[in-house]
Amino acid sequence: MIPIWRKGQMSFEQLICKAADVIKGTKKLVAFSGAGMSAESGIPTFRDPGGLWDRFDPEEIGTGPGLLNALMRIPDKIRALINETLTTFAAAKPNPGHHALFTLETMGILRSVITQNVDNLHGEAGNTRVIEVHGNLYRYRCLSCGRKNTFPRTEIFAHVRKALDSITHFNLTSVMSLLPQCSCGGRMRPDVVMFGEAVQSLPEAFKEAESCEVMLVLGTSGVVFPAAALPERAKSAGATVIEINPGLSSYRSISDLHIQSKTGEALPLIVQRIQHA
Ligand code: NAD
Ligand code: ZN
Repeated sequence: MIPIWRKGQMSFEQLICKAADVIKGTKKLVAFSGAGMSAESGIPTFRDPGGLWDRFDPEEIGTGPGLLNALMRIPDKIRALINETLTTFAAAKPNPGHHALFTLETMGILRSVITQNVDNLHGEAGNTRVIEVHGNLYRYRCLSCGRKNTFPRTEIFAHVRKALDSITHFNLTSVMSLLPQCSCGGRMRPDVVMFGEAVQSLPEAFKEAESCEVMLVLGTSGVVFPAAALPERAKSAGATVIEINPGLSSYRSISDLHIQSKTGEALPLIVQRIQHA
């Protein structure tokens, strides 16, 4: 059992060393990531200033019917938003934080990554066990037969852009044309979790949380439930919780160690420290 130390009394360097010491002693490390993990890949978070929910009401565009309604009411704004989102995701690549997590997996330390992100960047960095509780933007699910298909990003974005440009009037039929077609003839929707929809792979995620010795909580504000409950579950099952976040989150009271830094800066330093210890 790793002793819990007192917080708020360490320099940044001491925090990095402490985190490295704790992590190198386990083979049961699980990472839990949120939008902040991908901020340094150029994908804005939802709740930081300038982020999506700073500009749009989640109730308004975070559901299928809400999005359709917004497209009909404020088509130019939503068209610009979709185009901006496609451009951002198309350019995103794994950042040093993602690469550090892959290194921890190759060292036999990191067992899995549970992510709320839909951007596929943990998989692209090389991590093999990624539990995507909010789905994956490049995977599509047929609304008729349920078949799933993962498309290359360039292919799927080119399809959406072309369809979006050709729509002059938004209604249910024209919006459906944004969705690719399945071999069964049905339309395929992105396999991501919208507001009010069921979270994916939740039992597996909770099992990982309950059985880890150390959990890294990376760039998440901790307000989207039920995923946000995972660190608390890990903590109450006896895990040490290490949070890396330059800003605010709801995990302050449960984290044994809080490193107030970007994940793309702190994670590589922790890995370096483990490698050269
Ligand atoms: P959030 O937007 O609510 O919170 C982001 C958190 O990241 C904040 O606590 C912020 O302080 C922190 N942060 C900002 N920059 C950081 C950095 N460089 N390093 C570390 N931390 C940083 O994000 P959330 O808690 O993940 O909730 C948003 C929901 O929206 C998620 O469930 C996710 O599904 C979705 N989302 C996904 C993406 C993506 O796939 N990349 C992007 C935006 C939102
Ligand atoms: Zn089908």
